[in-house]
Amino acid sequence: MMQGNIRIKSHRDLRLIYRACQVAGRLLGELGLRIRPGASTGELNEFAEDFIARAGCKPAFKGYQGFPAALCTSINEEIVHGIPSRQRILEEGDILSVDTGAVLDGFYSDTAYTYYVGEGEPKGETAQLLSVTRKALADGISAVRAGAKLNRVSEAIARAVGREGFKVIRDLTGHGVGYDLHEPPTIYNYPVPAGENIRLRNGMVLALEPMVSRGSEDILLGEDGWTYRTTDGSLAAHFEHTVVVWDGKAVVLTEEGNEKARCLFGPVEEASAKT
Ligand code: MG
Repeated sequence: MMQGNIRIKSHRDLRLIYRACQVAGRLLGELGLRIRPGASTGELNEFAEDFIARAGCKPAFKGYQGFPAALCTSINEEIVHGIPSRQRILEEGDILSVDTGAVLDGFYSDTAYTYYVGEGEPKGETAQLLSVTRKALADGISAVRAGAKLNRVSEAIARAVGREGFKVIRDLTGHGVGYDLHEPPTIYNYPVPAGENIRLRNGMVLALEPMVSRGSEDILLGEDGWTYRTTDGSLAAHFEHTVVVWDGKAVVLTEEGNEKARCLFGPVEEASAKT
């Protein structure tokens, strides 16, 4: 079914999208155990390709417009679309944004997390950047309501970022997802004029993904033709979840162990054998 040019997912399809989402969410959890000083982004990608294949899925990003890997790995001032490499070694104090997705029987997921590399907790502005970006995603998810304008989500994200003195990266956006990696609508991380104001409906699947920096809101494309970085070299963070509008609100599909999503779209427990 279509709403404008936005595709509404059936419950049956959502069960498959949910499974693709859980593979990507679990992968981010597993990567968290392997991200440490001395690890290369290339070996993380090799782990990811193997993990996705063992789950019976394909990587959503590999081959997408020619992208060569299952993960986008973006370090420090890199915002998104970094290419994993055995030569890129993580150092203590780095932040690493990992963006990934899985495809199961043609159904897509998309999720991202920014990790602090090293012992202990991040400090100062790094800690603040990570918490503000995470909060922006949470506020965006909370703003999802069936019947409400999509702009409410954009406003919630922008407010969470702006009130702490950070900047959203304006040239990069969230999007619909599920039947393809990128579908309508475009989801801006700042309020837009009425023309983009579609109304949310149950069955819409959305990838919300604030990208945030301390300094510049402008982007620079690297020589590899993929990696976007901040123009002034300031750190950037990126968190993303795939959510579905269901029963009027957002249900997060890519969060590992999300109970509500599991109850709605998870495997049906086998009825106990009756004699
Ligand atoms: Mg995305």
